[in-house]
Amino acid sequence: MSKTFSPTKRFLIKGIMATCLLSVTRVGFAASMAQIIAVRVWPSSTYTRITLESNAKLNYKHAKLHNPDRIVIDIDNLNLNPTLKTISTKVLSRDPFIKSIRALQLDPKTVRLMIELKQGIDPNTFTLPPIAEFKHRLVVDLYPSKPTVTDDDPLLALLEEYQKGELNKKQSQIKSSNKKKNSPIIVMLDPGHGGEDPGAIGYKKTREKDIVLQIARRTYNLLKKEPNVKAYMTRKEDVFIPLNVRVAKARSLHADLFISIHADAFANRSVKGSSVFALSTRGASSSAASYLAQTQNDADQIGGVSRSGDKYLDNTILDLVQKTTLSNGVLLGTAILNRMKKVNKLHKPSIEKAGFAVLKAPDIPSVLVETAFISNINEEQKLKTASFQNQVSKAIVDGIKDYLKRRKN
Ligand SMILES: [Zn+2]
Repeated sequence: MSKTFSPTKRFLIKGIMATCLLSVTRVGFAASMAQIIAVRVWPSSTYTRITLESNAKLNYKHAKLHNPDRIVIDIDNLNLNPTLKTISTKVLSRDPFIKSIRALQLDPKTVRLMIELKQGIDPNTFTLPPIAEFKHRLVVDLYPSKPTVTDDDPLLALLEEYQKGELNKKQSQIKSSNKKKNSPIIVMLDPGHGGEDPGAIGYKKTREKDIVLQIARRTYNLLKKEPNVKAYMTRKEDVFIPLNVRVAKARSLHADLFISIHADAFANRSVKGSSVFALSTRGASSSAASYLAQTQNDADQIGGVSRSGDKYLDNTILDLVQKTTLSNGVLLGTAILNRMKKVNKLHKPSIEKAGFAVLKAPDIPSVLVETAFISNINEEQKLKTASFQNQVSKAIVDGIKDYLKRRKN
């Protein structure tokens, strides 16, 4: 995608005079320069993301250079402010892809980022419009050009299909397998949010993405002890994964069950309790459920996906949703809810339904567990404790076991 250029050659900034004149008359000269308000680097074993957040949309050009491997990004109309300077301190030595990042003022109107790499990288660079508490963002995702195959995790391949807009097509080719009677039950645990998307944030700044990852890991460890069960996780670390890719990972590994783990939030801090949701193709069971599904489905915009990526599973796949999958989802959710009520007050006495994008695998009974309200001060405190996390994990595992005795085939 990118063209190679000499790093010393300046870019021509087309039409800059016109822009300046307009700015002077309207808002003054200084206001025409964009300001960086935050920089973040999210390393993971699959890919590393760099995010520059700014008060205006950034115009940039990027190039890939070799010997040594590096990426150069020139951003127009930008000053090297103290926030942007901190980017060099944000690179961790354990980052699998980035050796170092330097930011320098190339000329009075251009900032250059030099990203030195540890290996050959295919970058995916895009901008995101403001959403939720985020302003404009410039995102640089760094994927390995030659992935090291260490295990059977299909995540990187699925992320690549997603970027190319080929995920839905490839997914529609996956046939639901006819499993042998004694083959293990495959459970996909899905800790919500991650990376750039923190999920809900508690009064004491506890982040949903951290809590749900801890609970999912505990659940995974409990499931590992169960005979004839194989567990996977959509994410094992603090990384952003689009909703569609989470569903695709479950389908690629022929999961029998999909359990998304979240913590709820509401403006009114007195609201509390646990809830369990199943997919509804006919609308939500309550306006709160519909609102929650909408905000959870926004995760892709908050976590950040480029526009070339596939949209949610389209109707052709949704039309395939089988009645059995939906009714088994309700059965699974009810079994988990019945166990959850022994460890926490319930927010609603029965399972709720809504159109969560993450529950839309056509052939996998899927539920979303809202473990507790992170916006409630007492429940936020509880969510942080190992004892409550263990109780929730055990409730999920016991719920799965109850369901397996009752499910319809
Ligand atoms: Zn959530």
